[in-house]
Amino acid sequence: MELKDAATPTEESECAFCGGKDSLTKQHAVPYWLMHEVHADPTVIHSYQLMEISSLLSGSFSFPKVIERDHENVTGFWTCDRCVNGWIHDLETEAIKPFSDLVHLPDSSVSDVLSSVDTLRPDSDVLSMGAFKTVLSCDFAVDEVHVIPEEHYRACGEQRIPNGVSVDLGFCREPSGFRILSGPLGNCEGDMTRCVYRVAFQSGHLIMMVRYTDGPFYDLYPGTISLYPEFRVEEELDIFRDSLEIIAWDVLALTYHNEKASDFYGLLET
Ligand SMILES: [Zn+2]
Repeated sequence: MELKDAATPTEESECAFCGGKDSLTKQHAVPYWLMHEVHADPTVIHSYQLMEISSLLSGSFSFPKVIERDHENVTGFWTCDRCVNGWIHDLETEAIKPFSDLVHLPDSSVSDVLSSVDTLRPDSDVLSMGAFKTVLSCDFAVDEVHVIPEEHYRACGEQRIPNGVSVDLGFCREPSGFRILSGPLGNCEGDMTRCVYRVAFQSGHLIMMVRYTDGPFYDLYPGTISLYPEFRVEEELDIFRDSLEIIAWDVLALTYHNEKASDFYGLLET
């Protein structure tokens, strides 16, 4: 397991969310209540990093090249007392019910939710903000160092989601404890839209993905529900077999978007 540097804050240390310096602590990256909901060991976060998606292109839905790691459930950055007892407390208080309801869905009612997705609409803002904050807090599970821009932490501290960030929601057939999912960015030189980061998490049947792209938006695989920047549901809602599919389909969707934009169909013709 990868253990964090538990040192006390130095003079330069500051709150990642607001720049404050009062009573800095390293918080749990994922709230314990969310881990308890799925009977996971609350101290450990499992991460799964998909290395390539060629198996998806060849019609197979298994992913042989996946790196699995365990991380201590502690953020790699400092948070101040004002944030912890202010907006973070308020966000968690508001998020507990909608997240718990989705995480607890039994197999049978996942399809009910998919057939009546409008029930998610009133909670789409708090679900989006909760997912955004969770992904920022688990930045240690993303391989590229400091891939998430500092401004995104400051935006989160102001309870806003920056331009270019989208949040999608889906369901997986097999429920799991809490896990963080990431994969290849799939960017090529000259791409019209580049993905800066793409991180998802699964808890129970629920999967949520946060991605930040630089360039025009592209649509994700129509099997998911878009929560942010706008609540949108496509016709072909689906249940994923493996939660890594949400990452793989998004890499594919981005590649398709860029190939279409440049009138070049290379990868997708093979
Ligand atoms: Zn703060």
